[in-house]
Amino acid sequence: EMIAGRVLSVHGLLSHVQIPSGEIIRCATRRVLKNLSTDQRHVVAAGDIVYYRPNGTSEGLIERIEPRANTLSRTSKGRQHVIVANVDQVLIVASAAEPSLKPNLIDRMIVEAERTGIRPVVCINKVDLVEPSDLQPIAGVYGQLGYDVLLLSAKENWGISRLRKLVAGKQTVVAGQSGVGKSSILNAIENGLALRVGRVSEENQKGRHTTTTAKLIPLAAGGYVVDTPGIRSFELWDIIPAEVIGYYRDLRPYVCLCRYPDCTHLHETDCAVKDAVADGRLDVRRYESYCYLFEGDAV
Ligand code: GDP
Ligand code: ZN
Repeated sequence: EMIAGRVLSVHGLLSHVQIPSGEIIRCATRRVLKNLSTDQRHVVAAGDIVYYRPNGTSEGLIERIEPRANTLSRTSKGRQHVIVANVDQVLIVASAAEPSLKPNLIDRMIVEAERTGIRPVVCINKVDLVEPSDLQPIAGVYGQLGYDVLLLSAKENWGISRLRKLVAGKQTVVAGQSGVGKSSILNAIENGLALRVGRVSEENQKGRHTTTTAKLIPLAAGGYVVDTPGIRSFELWDIIPAEVIGYYRDLRPYVCLCRYPDCTHLHETDCAVKDAVADGRLDVRRYESYCYLFEGDAV
């Protein structure tokens, strides 16, 4: 008589769990589950698939958490907090103009996506403000790396039906600099969605919720959008410089050909990565964004 559902949000020891009918059940967590993970403040996180035992019509007791496909987590005071689990994809939203396109920022967010095992989707919004052909080179670079690239205009409704199909039935994080049009895109997908998503960020900023866990916002077409202020910036938390190259799909294959096994690919001689950049096999801008990230410079 155990029932499966997905955790929408966690409030202390109480979780809101959505079952396939759409109904939301308030669930407590069994003590035994809490002991399973000693390094986490909340055992249950938003996005978790759980099994609960009904306890009345709209209440239950969570008895089991399914293994997580991935997590977005953050370490604070030596403890790891899971912000959200089981994310299917992250929409990396950039704008073609106003604010200007920042490919290095896109690269940084791709590194974070690769590191956490979440599929990145590159969304370039406000294409109505530029000549579409201007975007072909940059879209080409990401397309060649195997990433989905969507050229969008929330204003003109371009590309929105494709995006709507892409998010249906999935658990999606929306990331990107402020002003690129994330709210406009969300509203284009579904009326009033931005307001429902933004509410979580606001609550967090006011400190009314001390929790760092996210909230899942159900979509009419099925699936969820995830939001917290922390996730919006999609920062690189605790990355080790030497790890960075492993998340550059294009640069990575050359690493084993470098002379020094601990080559940073910045200043060394006989560096296969630098050679490939020099003779045009690798994109110079991608290499430069790697250098920025390695040295920990802001992009
Ligand atoms: P957010 O901070 O990422 O949520 O960005 P908003 O959705 O609030 O959008 C920031 C500004 O960009 C607003 O003034 C929007 O009207 C404008 N904007 C959003 N999408 C587009 C677009 O596709 N084209 C143009 N020209 N403007 C847009
Ligand atoms: Zn090298």
